Formats: sequence, structure tokens, C-alpha cells
Amino acid sequence: MRHPSAPPPFAQRVRDALEDRYLRTALQRATVQFTRQRAQAFAELADPEALRDHARAARAYAIAHLPELLERLEAEVTERGGVVHWAEDAAQANQIVLDLAASRGVKRVVKSKSMVSEEIGLNHALQSAGLEVTETDLGEFIIQLAGETPSHIVVPAVHKRKEDIAEVFERHLDVPRTLEPEVLTATARRRLRRQFLQADMGISGVNFAVAETGTLAILTNEGNGRFVTGLPPIHVAIMGIEKVIATLEDLILLIQMLPRSATGQKLTTYVNLVNGPARPSDPDGPDELHLILLDNGRSRIIAEGYAEALYCIRCGACLNSCPVYREIGGHAYGWVYPGPIGAVVTPLLLGRAHAADLPYASSLCGACRDVCPVRIDIPRLLLHLRGELTAGGHLPRWERWGIQGWRWLMASSDRYRWAGRLARWGSALLARGGRIRWLPPPLHRWTRSRDFPPFAARPFRARWVERSHGSGRRA
Ligand code: SF4
Repeated sequence: MRHPSAPPPFAQRVRDALEDRYLRTALQRATVQFTRQRAQAFAELADPEALRDHARAARAYAIAHLPELLERLEAEVTERGGVVHWAEDAAQANQIVLDLAASRGVKRVVKSKSMVSEEIGLNHALQSAGLEVTETDLGEFIIQLAGETPSHIVVPAVHKRKEDIAEVFERHLDVPRTLEPEVLTATARRRLRRQFLQADMGISGVNFAVAETGTLAILTNEGNGRFVTGLPPIHVAIMGIEKVIATLEDLILLIQMLPRSATGQKLTTYVNLVNGPARPSDPDGPDELHLILLDNGRSRIIAEGYAEALYCIRCGACLNSCPVYREIGGHAYGWVYPGPIGAVVTPLLLGRAHAADLPYASSLCGACRDVCPVRIDIPRLLLHLRGELTAGGHLPRWERWGIQGWRWLMASSDRYRWAGRLARWGSALLARGGRIRWLPPPLHRWTRSRDFPPFAARPFRARWVERSHGSGRRA
């Protein structure tokens, strides 16, 4: 499994992100727009809540019946002329692609967007073996030119403004600088057309794999998925084992949920349903189709009691709605999967010790759960992970002391009352214009990027007594 190559500590990454004014502007603009579009798209449905229930049930069924569905998928894909490969981890998956490329003399590879290929570091493995790899999703293409990694699971270049893209194109494609989106897009299109025509192998991800028919569904908005899967002589599709679903009916249901949740579209512009390599009667299509089924820790996630995390259909709605993601963006999470679902799956896939900060990168406000099309209870999973981390001794010492101190205060009503008095007195001293903008260490990290409301002048308890009895004050 590809571990992040020693990124700076989480606190440093967050600080860097918060200080990047352009990043925050780009994130706010995009996430607010996607959230609004999602809400509109769901409002048009007759019974969106019932659809979400059905979608969750379809995903829950698939994860509960993973072994038999995967075997059925293998049988159906094989029946239609495809070849199925099983990969236990990233190294095996990469080796399968490298072996295929070597045995067929592949030199140039085109790829459509695939988070799982990011997860296993496929580009790096292929390029290290001397292959030319081109990302063909526009966002991924920009990111690849810039030498960066995606910062969103649906919109990889969400952190880039058009000024940034113009600069990247000018530097790497040797074209005059322009801020016209149409001209920038046309430049990318010309470049990519050439790559499509010269490619010996196309590599794609899979949005859903239907067990009963062996159908691989690939949803894109740019048509690049169709070129990648249809033009080169070899198509390699890579999917995490959790992407399997039982029936075409489930596919129709989930296809209604994914684009609506991701970008507020009723449907993506292109929906590719791949059913094997080209048949003799087909006018075009690849000679070979290879499907790689990757585990890479997913079976362990189920065994550890986190199966619900695998219901995810990678729509990105939880990222767009998350107040933390909206401020810090994807790179601060330090690995491939950012946002609330990333804070759950990254420690599960990489190991708790490699991402011990992430389960705490949440206010547990529940916005992610409210928008998730398959109703994953992300706050519950985060709390569970926090519990494990605390039990495993991953909590910083000062935080452990803080929690112990809190417990000591809460265990006695006298101590609680005195602490309340102290807090009211202290916050009255620090408040300016009704807000606290500076707190002393160790609380100063909170006020570094936001303010804090002062404690109420009179505690709830006193106001409650007064309201109930209409009588005297007791603080
Ligand atoms: S957890 Fe839910 S909202 Fe977040 S990406 Fe997955 S399916 Fe979408």
C-alpha cells in the first residue's frame, strides 16, 4: 500500500492551508456551489429520502454478500471474454498492470480518473518502468502537469483557480497564457486527442460493477472514459472489491444518486457500460479487457467492524458540506481520500498510527451524514476510531490530561459550578465586541483562525430556575 511519503505533520498542513487565501476562496466557491446544486437536484425527486434508504440497502447488501457477488462478477466477466485478476495489495495490483504492459509491448498509457489507482500509486509504478502515462480527465490532466495530487475525489483540481491553470499550461504545454476557459479546454483537448490515438493501453476505474451481468459502469462528464476504454487495444479496469453491486436495478438506483450528490446533475454526460472486450461484430472496442479486483485492506475493514465505510460511492457530497474540508481542502488530509470519509478510511487503510490526527479533524456536526446518499454515519465511525486511538494511547498527553481534568470537574456539582464561574469571569475579561479573538496557550490554536463566543453572563441553570419559578436568581 502506498503510504504518504513523510508529509509534514497534520497541524502544519492545516496551518499552510489556512494561510492560503486563494485556496480558501477556490474551495468556498466550489463547495458552496456543489452543495446548492445537490440540494436542488434532490428537491426535484419525488421521494429523495426513500431513494436514499434504497441506495443504502443496495450497498449494505453488496458489502454483506461480497464473496459471492465477487465470484459471480468474475464468472460473468469471464463469460463475456474479459480476464479477472485478484490483487491482495497495491504491489500485486501494480505488478499485474506492469506484467500486462511488458508482455504486450505497451509504451503509452492513457488513464481516466481513478482514485483507486491513486491509492496504489499506479502512475509512479508505470513511470518508473519507463511507460508514458497520461491522465485524461481534465482536472487530473492539470494536476499531473502541475506535479500535484488530487484534492477532491470528484473534482481533483478544485483547489486551482483559472489563473493557476493558465500558468500550468503556459509552463508545461508551451502555449500563450490565457484566462479564457474555452481556450484552455481546447488546448487540453488537442493534447489529449493525440495521446488517445497513440495509446497502447487504457486504464480506468470502475464506479459500479454489476455482479449479475458482469457490467462495469464508468461515469464521466468529459467523454474521456469512453476514449480510454474504447480506443486502445487493451482496457484495464481497476476497482476496489467494494464497488461490486448485485443487480442492474441497483445500478439504475445508484446512478440516480451519484451525479446528483456529486455535482447536482441528474446524470453524468456519459455513462459507459462495459460488457467485455469487442466482439467480432463490433465496429470498435478493445481486443482485451482485464479487470483487477483489489482488496488492499478492505476485507480487514469489514473484519474490524467498519463495513459501513465501504458503502461509500465516492460522490464527494460529504466533502462539499464539511466545514473542515471547506477551510483546509484535500491536501491537508495527507493522502488520497480527503474530507469526512477520508478521515475514516485513511486510518483504516493505512493503519491508525499513520493517520491518528484525522478522526479528530471533525466537529462531529453531522453535515456529512445529512448529505450522504447512502446514509453512512460518519460521525459514529469517527467517534469509534477516536475511542480506539485513545485506548491505543495515540492521544497526546496534554489532551489526556485535559479530558481527565474535565471528568474531575463534571463529577461534582460544586466543582462544576465553580468552574462555570471562573469561565464566565475569564471570558468576560478576554471578550472584545462580544467575541473572544485571543485565548492563552494551549487554547490559542483555536483562536488562531476563528473566534470564540464568551460564556453567557448567567448560566442556563440559573435562568431555568428563574423561568420555572419566576423567582430569584441563583448562580
Ligand atoms: S461518504 Fe457518503 S457523501 Fe461521502 S463520498 Fe461517500 S457516499 Fe458520498
